[in-house]
Amino acid sequence: MKRKILILYTGGTIGMQASDNGYIPVPGFEALLRQQLRTGATQQLPDFEVQELDQLIDSSNLQPAHWTELAERLTSQWQQYDGFILLHGTDTMAYTASALSFMLRGTDKPVIITGSQIPLSELRNDALDNLITALILAGNYDIPEVCIYFNGRLLRGNRSSKLKSAGFDAFDSPNFTWLAQVGIHIDLHSHLLLESHPQPGFLAAGYKVPQFNPNAVVILPVYPGLSARIAQDMLSHDDVSGLILLSYGVGNPPDANAELMQTLEQAVQNNVTVVNITQCLQGKVSQGAYATGAALNRIGVVPGSDLTLEAAFTKLHYLIATQKPESLSRLMSQSLCGELTE
Ligand code: ASP
Repeated sequence: MKRKILILYTGGTIGMQASDNGYIPVPGFEALLRQQLRTGATQQLPDFEVQELDQLIDSSNLQPAHWTELAERLTSQWQQYDGFILLHGTDTMAYTASALSFMLRGTDKPVIITGSQIPLSELRNDALDNLITALILAGNYDIPEVCIYFNGRLLRGNRSSKLKSAGFDAFDSPNFTWLAQVGIHIDLHSHLLLESHPQPGFLAAGYKVPQFNPNAVVILPVYPGLSARIAQDMLSHDDVSGLILLSYGVGNPPDANAELMQTLEQAVQNNVTVVNITQCLQGKVSQGAYATGAALNRIGVVPGSDLTLEAAFTKLHYLIATQKPESLSRLMSQSLCGELTE
């Protein structure tokens, strides 16, 4: 029997049209898609329905509240479909993929996020191919994960980043093998996939999709000349409970800046969870390989292994919204759904 897939259009280039001010998201994606598919051999596709958010967005305007809205849209219709495709802008696609991977932990169905660099409404586009392949993957393969499909690559959502602003091959997962490679054939690396949970926790009676405080997590990149005042300003807001420190190389901060280190130490003592990830695109934090990084061990900063910025940021948001403060450091360094190498 054919599977039934829900396609949820959230906005983004894939369904945009040109306006006097540049591309804007417009409603009516389903009509456009059905028109494009009129000539194709669509019997290979699963059955699908298309829904749109009431407020379509350019994903640069994404807020943590959208993650709640999206998870609610999916979980409230979970039993009606065999899989889900989210059409999303590319700018913050990796944030949404990461956030949903935590919120839909233990998924038993594919949730594939895709979009495009050129809108479906244009003659030359990458939209149709991305969407059709995402449909074929969700409709024919057992993929119990939140993934990004883009330009021949199926990537674990919480391992993905947008690396190119204009290339069709915009997404990659520099620290994790692609889940599938799509060329003439579809090579799905099933041994890499997460285990399917027959009864995902988010379907339990009384489960509430997490709500996020948008100010709970801040990001502090280190750079030559960074002053402690910048960190102090960030941490001066009462509702900040987490800080992602984007350090150099294998996790090195400018430890010669004693005031900065004291500020971080004070933050940890004030129960702010500070997580250290690297600015490098590939590789992991090894906090203590250098004396500069060892300083972070002493003050209780959590080493973030090979988490992407998007995964570290959304995981910390998710844990702050759902867990007791004393368990955050431990959970940040454990893999919850394949997001880091332990
Ligand atoms: N600004 C667009 C968005 O993220 C870019 C895209 O979709 O490719 O919504």
